[in-house]
Amino acid sequence: MMQRDHDDLWRDFPKTATEFEARFATEADCRAYWIEARWGGKPACARCHSTRVWSEREGFLFECAECGHQTSLTSATLLEKTHKPLKMWFRAVFEISTRRTGISAKDLQRIMGFGSYKTAWSWLHKLRAAMVRSMSEPLGPFVQVDEALVGGKGGPHKELVLAAAEVGGRVRLAHAESNDKATLKHFADGQIAADAHVVTDGLASYDSESLGERPHEAIVQTKAERRENDVVQSCHWTISLLKRWLMGTHAGAVSPKHLQAYLDEFAFRHNRRKTKGVGRIAARVIEQLVARQPLTMRKLIDGTRRCRWFASNQAALA
Ligand SMILES: [Zn+2]
Repeated sequence: MMQRDHDDLWRDFPKTATEFEARFATEADCRAYWIEARWGGKPACARCHSTRVWSEREGFLFECAECGHQTSLTSATLLEKTHKPLKMWFRAVFEISTRRTGISAKDLQRIMGFGSYKTAWSWLHKLRAAMVRSMSEPLGPFVQVDEALVGGKGGPHKELVLAAAEVGGRVRLAHAESNDKATLKHFADGQIAADAHVVTDGLASYDSESLGERPHEAIVQTKAERRENDVVQSCHWTISLLKRWLMGTHAGAVSPKHLQAYLDEFAFRHNRRKTKGVGRIAARVIEQLVARQPLTMRKLIDGTRRCRWFASNQAALA
């Protein structure tokens, strides 16, 4: 994948709805931006990488002068095979980026005027996939780890969520089947720097087997002590914000099989809460729409299955 510095695109991105309307008034405006984000302004053949291409179908298709291959604007991106104009996608990106608390599929359906809920749902999942960075720096240098039960308003069913939080910084959340040592080790190895200092409560699964060489403090606290000085406060705050967000934005109606996707979205928003300007977020989302491989409906559904990260990496534990 092409590695470019996208700072100029970020700085340039509209920050208000009025600016946005003006900047992306036509399909051509959106295509120009897309071409900038995907190819640095010069469309290239997907087969031989030549930049000697002829634009066809009003700049939606590029035919290679060297090999004759036709490359579409959206091929090999998350928006591959979309039948809707880029202008609509840009609008949806702006909506999802400007709302601090995110958006439900029902909201998106109403805003975009989609006939079907299914369309809104699939758009939202593509946009979410774009929001979550594939590669992220592990947490450190001071990290708290805790677990909590989430969901099941009034019902008996609650889902286990593992939380890791830097003090005053970023968080990672994982929907897990268990908090046994193998699961915690997998979570720690994927999310926490190998030399980070880790603080947990007294749960027995947190030990050198699950946390490895990391310096570790296991602190058992009474309720009164916790009120005074909660040693895993960043985790507790994160979890309570998460619960509020799930109730507020999604009315608590999150099914277990999609929980990881919501956790990823929450973490993305939370970790960027100090990022100034929606422009940065929206530009980042578009950059990811460009850079990430297409998702089919099948993959969308599979990708949001329970314990996605755990199940898909279980082989690594063996
Ligand atoms: Zn070519």
